[in-house]
Amino acid sequence: MSIDEKVDLINLSLVELEEFMQSIGEKKFRARQVFEWIHKGVLSFDDMTNLSLELRDKLKEVATICNLEIVEKLESKLDKTAKYLLRLPDGNIIESVLMKYKYGYSVCISSQIGCRMGCRFCASTGIGFVRSLTAGEILCEVLTIQEDLGERISNIVMMGIGEPFDNYDNVIKFLNLVNDKCGLNIGSRHISISTCGLVPRILDFAKENSQVTLSISLHSANDEVRESMMPINKKYKIKELISACNIYTERTNRRITFEYALVRGVNDSDKDALDLVKLIEGILCHVNLIPINEVDSSNYKQSYNDRIENFKNILLKKGINATVRRELGSDIKAACGQLRRSKL
Ligand code: SAH
Repeated sequence: MSIDEKVDLINLSLVELEEFMQSIGEKKFRARQVFEWIHKGVLSFDDMTNLSLELRDKLKEVATICNLEIVEKLESKLDKTAKYLLRLPDGNIIESVLMKYKYGYSVCISSQIGCRMGCRFCASTGIGFVRSLTAGEILCEVLTIQEDLGERISNIVMMGIGEPFDNYDNVIKFLNLVNDKCGLNIGSRHISISTCGLVPRILDFAKENSQVTLSISLHSANDEVRESMMPINKKYKIKELISACNIYTERTNRRITFEYALVRGVNDSDKDALDLVKLIEGILCHVNLIPINEVDSSNYKQSYNDRIENFKNILLKKGINATVRRELGSDIKAACGQLRRSKL
């Protein structure tokens, strides 16, 4: 049997693992033992010491467990941010970032190898799309970093490489895996997902009734400007996107985060701020202003600090909740796709 035919157990929910164990003639309770090992970060059958040697050998024959190799780890000298380059079993490389906050550790993880969305300001654009990650591979990013850190990771943000909603089913499966009480047991309220605005998937996600925080990469309240920054706006216009956001907040009662990366002379004028106010007034939301990280592939420049402050104050004065994102790990290229790009 080749590796491709083996079942990757990290992808399975506890119920699926029980079915799997029974399908190979084993007792159902073995599933829970294996599940707990995997989610503790023990990804080798040899180390699963409460299984008989015989069972370990049998599992090795029919199953596998995804393992990520840490190719490189860069630690920021400015803060506790660490950037990981991780190699998948098929040789592809992804990246994840560990961040330390007052409340604990958070990881920023990738959902795909590359991205198809083509946002002009993003370092993941132009390096090509290879494939989506499986639920287990996404989980493995968290497990690998937690194991390396030696402390519990309490929060997850899906803001690394890829468009999570372009890999919808695997991302939902991943959420169920990390939520599992026998696994990492990370509650939905400790998880954020960021999307460039795939409207049909936002509507699907509203139906999941999940408590996950949804972030929308908005970046402009003007279709023409947004389209020049994000090709997805050709497919789903701002009006449609905002209407989906309204449905989402009404259904879930969860506050949406709008991300707005400020680019000098492109989307950072007073008028831009007022247009944004008009667009999102009345929606249960928060605006996260991000001074854009300058990447080689675009000529976008970061807005000046006084512009950023001005923009924020306009929103605040109009009663819109807004903060400016603190930049972490700027000395280790912690922004979107930058490390992987330089490696390729
Ligand atoms: N595809 C998803 C998630 C990945 S990007 C999305 O588009 O939301 C995560 C966030 O980083 C998004 O808000 C994205 O717009 C933003 N981002 C990407 N490149 C950036 C850059 N160079 N500077 C600042 N923010 C950037």
